[in-house]
Amino acid sequence: MLHCDLPQLTRRHVLALLPALAGSACARRESPPLDTEPRHPVADVLSLTALDQVQLGGYLGAKVDRCIRNRIFAQHPEHLVAPFRQRTEREGWQTEFWGKWFLSAVAACEYTHNAGERARLGDSVHSLIATQTGDGYIGNYAAGSHLKGWDVWGRKYTLLGLLAWCDMTGDAAALASARRLAAHLMTEVGPGAADIVHCGLYRGMAASSVLEPIVLLHRHTGDERLLRFAEWIVSRWSAPDGPRLIEDAFTAVPVAERFPRPRKWFSWENGEKAYEMMSCYAGLLELYRATGRASWRDAALRTHSNIFSTEINITGSGSSEECWYGGRARQTQAAHNPMETCVTVTWMHLCANLLRLTGDPRYADAIETAAYNALLGAMAPDGSRFAQYSALAGIREFGPPQCGMELNCCEANGPRGVMLLPQVAVMMGAEGPVCNLYSEGTWNLRLPSGAALRIEAKTDYPLSGQVDLVLHPARSESFPLRLRIPDWSPQTALTVNGSRIGNVQPGAYATLERLWKPGDRVRLQLDLRGRILRAADESRQFATVARGPLVLARDVRLGQPALDDPVADFAGDAGFIGLEAVAPPPGIAAAFRAGQVRLCDFASAGNTWDASSRYRVWMPLSG
Ligand SMILES: [Zn+2]
Repeated sequence: MLHCDLPQLTRRHVLALLPALAGSACARRESPPLDTEPRHPVADVLSLTALDQVQLGGYLGAKVDRCIRNRIFAQHPEHLVAPFRQRTEREGWQTEFWGKWFLSAVAACEYTHNAGERARLGDSVHSLIATQTGDGYIGNYAAGSHLKGWDVWGRKYTLLGLLAWCDMTGDAAALASARRLAAHLMTEVGPGAADIVHCGLYRGMAASSVLEPIVLLHRHTGDERLLRFAEWIVSRWSAPDGPRLIEDAFTAVPVAERFPRPRKWFSWENGEKAYEMMSCYAGLLELYRATGRASWRDAALRTHSNIFSTEINITGSGSSEECWYGGRARQTQAAHNPMETCVTVTWMHLCANLLRLTGDPRYADAIETAAYNALLGAMAPDGSRFAQYSALAGIREFGPPQCGMELNCCEANGPRGVMLLPQVAVMMGAEGPVCNLYSEGTWNLRLPSGAALRIEAKTDYPLSGQVDLVLHPARSESFPLRLRIPDWSPQTALTVNGSRIGNVQPGAYATLERLWKPGDRVRLQLDLRGRILRAADESRQFATVARGPLVLARDVRLGQPALDDPVADFAGDAGFIGLEAVAPPPGIAAAFRAGQVRLCDFASAGNTWDASSRYRVWMPLSG
């Protein structure tokens, strides 16, 4: 009996039904029978590293530090709590900002061990909880407008923020507040109440993504009603007018073509909104962990694969007007409002989610490409801001503030992508550690045996391809150390204490299984030869070059020929081209001469954020 625990009909419940009676989009809908298969919770193959156990240095560490100092810790928390005290909103998304910023702030606190910031976050949480109304609601929508616009979406980020604080501190008040917020939501939405797929925009995908914190809250509390509510949300996706996130995943239809092109882009009928669609799959994967329903995992895997093969461009992200649009095949052409940073960050999180579940290094490859190119290209050099949209050619620009706030969705989200990197760089598997991203840094890990292991990495990667790891197990111990060999590195040299390791394959983990002693040294030399990348549209051929994880681009600061002029095709040997390092102009991390043109890393291209650093990735070829 799945409907026996329905909440009591409250005044709020009746209020929620009034719009339905008046013909609003939030219509009452009966629920189809829910699945009654037994649940078999699933454990991750790889676990994220706790942020207080890792410290990155070098190129990546400096980027993380700047983002923390100049964006995350520079945010005034009270400004983000203020909207919650004005419950008059009917369409805005002011309530997403606190949760998005707070998630990155909790991560930054753990990473920096900063007690002062931690106290400030505690004040912010309790300031937010003080806005909770007697019935449990935390939000800024007027009573008659609940569930419209971005109301449920905002509640999702509030729940995620409260749970992140609870994870870090064990604060019982935060968990109690999250429980009341979720319980109140279940009086307004659910079997016999409003239909989730008719709440808000994008076929209910924005509202449906509340699935993720609902499942996480179940993990915290064991409250069975939360899991039933989560399963009900997923069941509604298959309604005749639902977003079909399960069944469409099992077809070959590209994500951009799941629904007809909408008459109005920002509307309920738009089923191609990238950030919201991926956010639903993040929740679906949490529900898979709780239930073991393989079809839910497979729907996310297949959709990820579809996005990768039809949408993700060479800098590791995609979207136009925040929607899927067949972008991979169209990446040499200009697109309107391309590559929303929210899409980049959510794509990276979806990849990390699947990396945890599968241990497949392809997901780490995708994270690395997105991180070094799309994400860090969108970040201001001092880390203080993020672009809302990033083109593969043009002038970088920040987006305007939104909803009367001092920041926009992407500036709130960018730091969440940055703070993911120290968590995935080295992860722990059932047998031993797994290195995914190469950076200078120190990791204090706990081996499956329970013994401590410190790993120290010395490298100036990605500027060079040499990575030195020194292992410091508390005592000599046998375990496998796995090292990701990027798919772009066909010639990789790997040694342990100077002895060469053979059969190192790109696109896989190299497994070093041995008795590790304190001070054992691993040296990895990755293949940073320039790789020629080619593309075509109907009119002409284009090419560019990549070096290791870095996509290279032209930038007017690097000189002639004129930026948009066709260039001679790159003469290379089996797809590789010699790159001559040149002294980079100020503000550029790495510059090279390739044939007749000079190129720099995409993240540096355009980073004056004005016409003085106009740039382009794809170069039209002459002839
Ligand atoms: Zn955004």
